[in-house]
Amino acid sequence: VQFRGLNQQFSYLLQHCILPNLELSDGFKGEAPPSKRLETSSAKSLMDIGTRRIFSADHDMFRESVRRFWTEEVVPYHKEWEKAGMVSRELWQKAGEQGLLGILVPEEHGGIGGDMLSAAVMWEEQMYSNCTGPGFALHSDICMPYISNYGSKEQIDRFIPQMTAGTCIGAIAMTEPGAGSDLQGVRTYAKKDGDDWILNGNKVFITNGCMADLVIVVTVTNREAKTAAHGISLFLVEKGMPGFQAGKKLEKIGLHAQDTAELFFEDVRLPASALLGQVNKGFYYLMNELPQERLLIADMAISSSEFMFEETRNYVMQRKAFGKTISHLQTVQHKLAEIKTEICVGRSFLDNCLQLHAENRLDSQTASMAKYWASDLQNSVATRCVQLHGGWGYMWEYPIAKAFVDSRVQPIYGGTNEIMKELIARSIVSQK
Ligand SMILES: Cc1cc2nc3c(=O)[nH]c(=O)nc-3n(C[C@H](O)[C@H](O)[C@H](O)COP(=O)(O)OP(=O)(O)OC[C@H]3O[C@@H](n4cnc5c(N)ncnc54)[C@H](O)[C@@H]3O)c2cc1C
Repeated sequence: VQFRGLNQQFSYLLQHCILPNLELSDGFKGEAPPSKRLETSSAKSLMDIGTRRIFSADHDMFRESVRRFWTEEVVPYHKEWEKAGMVSRELWQKAGEQGLLGILVPEEHGGIGGDMLSAAVMWEEQMYSNCTGPGFALHSDICMPYISNYGSKEQIDRFIPQMTAGTCIGAIAMTEPGAGSDLQGVRTYAKKDGDDWILNGNKVFITNGCMADLVIVVTVTNREAKTAAHGISLFLVEKGMPGFQAGKKLEKIGLHAQDTAELFFEDVRLPASALLGQVNKGFYYLMNELPQERLLIADMAISSSEFMFEETRNYVMQRKAFGKTISHLQTVQHKLAEIKTEICVGRSFLDNCLQLHAENRLDSQTASMAKYWASDLQNSVATRCVQLHGGWGYMWEYPIAKAFVDSRVQPIYGGTNEIMKELIARSIVSQK
């Protein structure tokens, strides 16, 4: 089989690592011509494989294998990991073995060299499994691109293959107790000492914070720069470096299997080779990479909404009240009609954004629109779906309860939705 649109190594992985275990579901019956692929509004389920014209039959096959990974390797253990507050390291390695980490990173850098839409398949299937524990998207599609795009050959050779294999877990540390939305307020400081740098400061709310082997740390390197943005650099800080410590896992209201931690840096001596890219260019790199982060949050928000809708549809079709299932009630039917319509409108915009990004044409304000609108929609869908479950929707044993609490952070991280509106608004008034 030659996988059209996918490069050689990715095709190899599909055929040798993934396909041998692959049985296609009933939903997938070969490739329909692109124009004949159903959009989600017409599909039987919002999570059907073989739908949406941005994807091809190759993506469908890949999605089958990714769905199987989440169903078999993650779902059965997720409750355990929620109690532990983090997933297992073995899971990372399994994902690596199956070629599911670093999908977007070019193979000449040690990544998988897949396309944008294959990376999106991984984000979407995570949300369809309702397992928010593994911070794979942050590792693969937020951290790895920084190293691949701005790292030296030595940094790329050293870290990317291990990150693709899942043996080196990545994190990115921007936020500080006193600086979140206002990234220019960062205080963590690296002072030059000969060829080395001495790093001091602390970061908070860092995803993969406890498990991370490698952290990209946003740091002030020039306190006298003409603006704060001109004095920020990125450093690669490794687990075990003297003076670097992860604090205890933070207790969150959701994302219970995802480790989020505070990080402390006390006189950490960093060699010159730990600087990522050029000195004082960090803010510029962040601005370049943030649209992809926002796009992935948005895509995960729409996917979670699709999952919640299907959960709720199933629930109301079996829950009885007043002698028949509540799906017979017109108020319930109308609620479902509203929710489905809103999700399909959102999916249409998101697919457009995914396609634009695949063509390197997604601009920052459009990514911000997607992030703000989709994550607000996710929360509104979550509230309505819990309501349709009644008291059971408030019970932890029901998947909708978990999806509800996990939704809440989406308008907060990756830049709050208020900041997204700032960015969109700026582009509106500056275009006249
Ligand atoms: C679970 C979780 C995981 C996270 N993971 C990471 C991570 O891996 N790496 C990382 O670096 N960070 C991470 N964060 C941090 C996250 O990005 C920040 O919390 C977020 O950017 C907001 O910053 P803040 O919490 O300091 O809020 P603040 O900036 O203090 O904002 C408080 C409120 O004020 C509003 N506000 C602030 N400025 C403006 C403005 N100019 N106009 C209008 N309203 C404004 C905000 O929108 C918000 O409503 C994570 C956070 C959480 C909760």
